[in-house]
Amino acid sequence: MDHTTPRLDFALIGHQESWDKVTLLINTMRQMEGSDLLPPDTIKEIFPFIPPRKVFDIKVNRLNGEPVYGIYIETFISPDNLGIKHLQQNLSKVKEACLCAANEGAKIVSLGGFTSIVLEASNSPLQEIKNTFFTTGNTLTAAFICEGIKKACIENKIDIHKSSLLIIGSTGDIGSACVNYFSGIANKLLLCARNVKQLQQQAISLQENNIHCKASVDLNLLLPEADIILFVASSPVVEWKTSLIKDDVIICDAGYPKNMIQQLPPHLKKRIFCGGMGHVAAGFHFTPRYMESFYKYPCDNASHGCLLECIVLSMEKNYLAYSIGRGNITKENMNAILQMSKKNGIEVAPFFNAEELWHQQKSIATINYE
Ligand code: NDP
Repeated sequence: MDHTTPRLDFALIGHQESWDKVTLLINTMRQMEGSDLLPPDTIKEIFPFIPPRKVFDIKVNRLNGEPVYGIYIETFISPDNLGIKHLQQNLSKVKEACLCAANEGAKIVSLGGFTSIVLEASNSPLQEIKNTFFTTGNTLTAAFICEGIKKACIENKIDIHKSSLLIIGSTGDIGSACVNYFSGIANKLLLCARNVKQLQQQAISLQENNIHCKASVDLNLLLPEADIILFVASSPVVEWKTSLIKDDVIICDAGYPKNMIQQLPPHLKKRIFCGGMGHVAAGFHFTPRYMESFYKYPCDNASHGCLLECIVLSMEKNYLAYSIGRGNITKENMNAILQMSKKNGIEVAPFFNAEELWHQQKSIATINYE
């Protein structure tokens, strides 16, 4: 690609969640380069062998119109290989992508979705290469999730202080941050994960602090009590009975991919929204223009909290490994990144799910400085 970035502030590292998205991305890239489109089968064969590389430039404006410049690096990890079984192979691709970001001169890098494994998994996680800092982006994600849940409760006249909040993935990095945040706010916390020991430890420590909670590896035991449900698990949730869910529930789908809506009966489809998402008031601009093929949601200028975290930090010229390891997210850091984010015109996104906006406006106001 012959376009050049004027100055590099940040980089985003990511992956695609389905073969449909891979096909759209690859064929959009080929179209931009004037090459023939490829059939899905051929793309499926070659995709895992493509090394991580920059695929487009990004410009994001602060509220005052001053831009920050970034790049998106695709890891080219196959959507079929996003499980723990392929950990070693994926780790080496993500590390290669991190090196690529450092060589490009990015000052700060967010590792989106599954790629955050290199920052979470080891005892001495990668924080810095040369002068490039890395963050999982999980602090801003957790902050957007909590802010979104509080707003959804107000809008739906749910008193969170009298409600039971179910967190699926409660022992994870983002899940445990949300547990901490809502301790003392929600009337009762319902905790769900697969590892019994970790779940019990979490419940005991909450009970020692007089937090009303109940924990189970069996989601179906918790569902009937839940007024609000947060999905923040790192693997697909299966074998749960949607008939046990209350009709007036609020559901926040913050896992990745955001596809829980597909499992819900029609009357609950209006009750689910995508969580952990932010909205960029001044808009973001891709060169080449990949907007149509990339993480497209029913709300313009919406993006994942994890990706927005490094954009916010670069707007603040605050280059550091803000979110690193697992279980280190504090309420103070969530509030601080949320304030930085708001100051720069990046706020929790309007409510939407994978199918539609909750409210029928097409999108909220967008300022274009191009
Ligand atoms: P972690 O690996 O730290 O935690 C995952 C949690 O999910 C653990 O508590 C795990 O516990 C639990 N879990 C996994 N599978 C299941 C299951 N089938 N049923 C119940 N619990 C389960 O992940 P993170 O906290 O970093 O990320 C959580 C999710 O958020 C991921 O899907 C990630 O892709 C997404 N994410 C979303 C972002 C956004 O912008 N909205 C940004 C970043 C991440 P156990 O293993 O014991 O089951």
